[in-house]
Amino acid sequence: MSQNPIVIIGSGLAGYTVIREFRKLENEVPVIIISADHGGFYSKPMLSNALTKGKTPDTLLNSNAEHVAEQMKAVIRPYSKVSAINPSNKNITLQDGEEINYDQLVLALGANQIRLPLEGDGSEEILSVNNLDDYRSFRDTLTTKKEISILGAGLIGCEFANDLAMAGYNVHVIDISTQPLGKLLPPAGGAFLQRKLEAIGVAFHFDTITKRVEKIGKKLQLTFANGKTLQTDILLTAVGLIPNTSLAEKAGIKVNRGIVVNRSLQTNYNNIYALGDCAEVDGRVLPYVMPIMHAARALAATLAKKPTLVRYPAMPVLVKTPACPTVVAPPNPGTKGEWQVEETPNSVRALFNDAENNLLGYALLGTAINEKMILTKELPSVME
Ligand SMILES: Cc1cc2nc3c(=O)[nH]c(=O)nc-3n(C[C@H](O)[C@H](O)[C@H](O)COP(=O)(O)OP(=O)(O)OC[C@H]3O[C@@H](n4cnc5c(N)ncnc54)[C@H](O)[C@@H]3O)c2cc1C
Repeated sequence: MSQNPIVIIGSGLAGYTVIREFRKLENEVPVIIISADHGGFYSKPMLSNALTKGKTPDTLLNSNAEHVAEQMKAVIRPYSKVSAINPSNKNITLQDGEEINYDQLVLALGANQIRLPLEGDGSEEILSVNNLDDYRSFRDTLTTKKEISILGAGLIGCEFANDLAMAGYNVHVIDISTQPLGKLLPPAGGAFLQRKLEAIGVAFHFDTITKRVEKIGKKLQLTFANGKTLQTDILLTAVGLIPNTSLAEKAGIKVNRGIVVNRSLQTNYNNIYALGDCAEVDGRVLPYVMPIMHAARALAATLAKKPTLVRYPAMPVLVKTPACPTVVAPPNPGTKGEWQVEETPNSVRALFNDAENNLLGYALLGTAINEKMILTKELPSVME
């Protein structure tokens, strides 16, 4: 057996699910997990509904790094940033210069929030929430504020809007699109979600490009391309994620939108793998929980010397907007078809069918979410 460990970079859902699944198959092989953050385990999706669920940053943390290390029989190195991967030496370099050899390397590096290039002296005050530490700062800031503006009406923007509005904050959501969840919902679904969120007090500003953010006393003032302005206490950005690829790219690992891997989760180096928000698996970047679970199970088996290809079944995404229960199974990109929408005062049922009437995707809102299980069975796999 090799002396060198499996090294996993990243202690998010991807890194920790791989080790959890691997330990079900293999108990002896040493594993080291290197993480730039605290290394504790928490559920990232809960960050955007924590207020409604009565959770604080402390109660969101399920286990600290020592506890996870014990459970997983692994060495965890929190607050250790990897500065280089050296495939020809089969080692990595940490920021303090320490080198760690690996037998197999797993990249579970996550993604970064996109920062819009906005003008004005308030732009460095813009907050984003993509991990527990970000959320802790956000919650600290919230304690003395009332007006929150969110850039981006996508999944994360809408979930935070719902959570903050329910907790009594005045919430504005600004987006260049004409509807919420523009990439996931047909227009009727977007309009329904918008009405439901407006009913709990969320104010939307669609078709609106933000140009400048300036500090005006304790407030931030947004100036839009149409000349209108909006003052706010806090500005949160949620305009999308960009896979964290720079470390891989510098090491000569192939990168496209994400770190390019095949269905074995293998990069262009046969002992370096990637999964989670940083990875592009057979052409797909899917920054959600379910793809990570499937990828982690397949990769764990491969690392345990049982080569396994990842399969993705249909993977609907539940949008955590209790004011408007929503579940979406977007059609695979590039598939041809049309939305067929049925609307009632309490629901939108949108089915995306091809010319032969095969179901390729759906969006269910309000009471229509009851059909989720039945319709999911009819959907094709995302990746066979
Ligand atoms: C607010 C919010 C709500 C969400 N809700 C949902 C939902 O309802 N449903 C759903 O399916 N998905 C949801 N998601 C997406 C889901 O949470 C992510 O897809 C998933 O958590 C990503 O896990 P990951 O391990 O790939 O990345 P991350 O959790 O980002 O982990 C990346 C890890 O890499 C480490 N790292 C990065 N660079 C280095 C380095 N150089 N050296 C050492 N360590 C490094 C980081 O410290 C971190 O530990 C949500 C996301 C957010 C932000």
